[in-house]
Amino acid sequence: MKNVLNHSSITPIEQSITELGESPLWDHRLNRLYWVDIMQGKVLWMDMKTGHHSFIKLATSVGTLALSDDPEQILLASGDGFARLHLQTEIVTAIHDPEAEIAGNRFNDGKIDPRGCFWAGTMAIDGQGTAGSLYCLDADSQVERKLIDVACSNGLVWNQAHDTFYYIDTGKRSVDAFDYDLSTGVISNRRILLSIGEEDGYPDGMTIDAEGALWVALWGASSVIRIDPVSQTIIQRIDLPVSQVTSCAFGGDDFSILFITTANIGLTDTQKANEPLAGSIFTTEEGVKGLASTFYKS
Ligand code: ZN
Repeated sequence: MKNVLNHSSITPIEQSITELGESPLWDHRLNRLYWVDIMQGKVLWMDMKTGHHSFIKLATSVGTLALSDDPEQILLASGDGFARLHLQTEIVTAIHDPEAEIAGNRFNDGKIDPRGCFWAGTMAIDGQGTAGSLYCLDADSQVERKLIDVACSNGLVWNQAHDTFYYIDTGKRSVDAFDYDLSTGVISNRRILLSIGEEDGYPDGMTIDAEGALWVALWGASSVIRIDPVSQTIIQRIDLPVSQVTSCAFGGDDFSILFITTANIGLTDTQKANEPLAGSIFTTEEGVKGLASTFYKS
């Protein structure tokens, strides 16, 4: 299914080009969009009201970021593990690195769960094998390993009923669902919600809308798809002018703007010439709203 809607409104945000843009995240308190450039170790943001762009470059890679109850401080899953970044002082405070001994891995995508815990997973830097894991950082700074044998940890979201966790291991080429226990944070009963066909590339980052549908970025397939988790089918598709689509998140005043991150890493010169906007963040409005980001509670 292609071109369900007319997507002439897909617009790149100027100055948003990254090598491996990921983890778009809306802070409704500040009207601010955050994202990361993973291998460059950059945390970037844009203030929607002023259009002002800024970034902090870390001394290590940064897989993802999350909001805390203090808008001045964000959480990171970085090359040095879980950490806190103060946006004014740029001081990074380490919390815990569950993979300090595993040099070949790095952190990738992550999100805050309905209990206020920060979940983030890892992958091999060379993309090979299943050496990654999924971790959960709780309010007491304790880290628990939730999954092992992960190729590339991605696409974490929880439904509004807080009883289901959706997860993507990009290497498995599927969008999976688990039962989620709100009182304990335990996940169980893993099942495949939707397998991604070869023509659709690799499922990467994911968000959920107010109607409970999932929006999944397809790396290598120039698109974002909307999945109905009840019928387990693709119900909408957004086509982009770039191949490596990494993640998406709703934001804007009323959460009606979908921000889509992309990447130009690994593209040949010819591909880069064909995809001059690769690495940009794109925006679109699809007539559905997203949900407010949750905060880490410490
Ligand atoms: Zn990703």
